[in-house]
Amino acid sequence: MGNNTNEKVESDYIFDKKMVCPVCDREFKTKQIRTGKARFLGTDEVLRPSYSGVDVTKYDVVMCPHCGYAAVNRTYGHVTPKQIQAVKRDIGARYHALIQNEEVYSYDSAIRRCKMAMLTAMVIHQKVSENAYLCLKLAWLYRGAINEMQEAGTSEQKIEKYRNSEHEYLMDAYKGFATALETEYPPICNIDEMTLNYLMTSLARECEDYDNAIRYAYAIIGSRSAASGMKEKARALAEEIKALKAKE
Ligand SMILES: [Zn+2]
Repeated sequence: MGNNTNEKVESDYIFDKKMVCPVCDREFKTKQIRTGKARFLGTDEVLRPSYSGVDVTKYDVVMCPHCGYAAVNRTYGHVTPKQIQAVKRDIGARYHALIQNEEVYSYDSAIRRCKMAMLTAMVIHQKVSENAYLCLKLAWLYRGAINEMQEAGTSEQKIEKYRNSEHEYLMDAYKGFATALETEYPPICNIDEMTLNYLMTSLARECEDYDNAIRYAYAIIGSRSAASGMKEKARALAEEIKALKAKE
């Protein structure tokens, strides 16, 4: 029986940061992760990061509650005057201000924010890789929500809906990154070449595109630059995929 007095709650890992919206020039507060507080535990097969105490992915998107402009931290504020006009016309004019007073972001609100970032990316014609990355993040959020619901004992019927969404966005991410790889060269969205090959192996498996999954895995296994740990993970994944393919 542990002592709970030292146990941190999610709100201990975040703080309110004041932002100015580059589109409507209004001020708002967004929740950010305190750097160095949460301990990094690792990533899963689709690179979803896990940290102790908090799901950092919920806090990736900055969204202006006044006009709806939204972007991940890495690209927030990177908009040209022409893009600002496009956001004002295509989002701001139709968007109803949404000021929420949540202490922490729920998965559903993080999912909404991520979808607004996807809408913004579409309106400002972001690179295809950025769209793919947002699809991936959205899938991570659905996965996080599923874990949370399972722990809470939510009915399988409700979870099923989230599972379908997770799968759908993993498929979109796969298509998006595959297209991006035709015209962009890694690192793509800060993902290096070998990590991207690993991600593509996992995404191709998710989409039951087994031949390409094996091809991406062998790009790692046969590479001179891949780290040995990465090669091992790729080998294990390739074996799994071959077994799945044999069952077809
Ligand atoms: Zn705004």
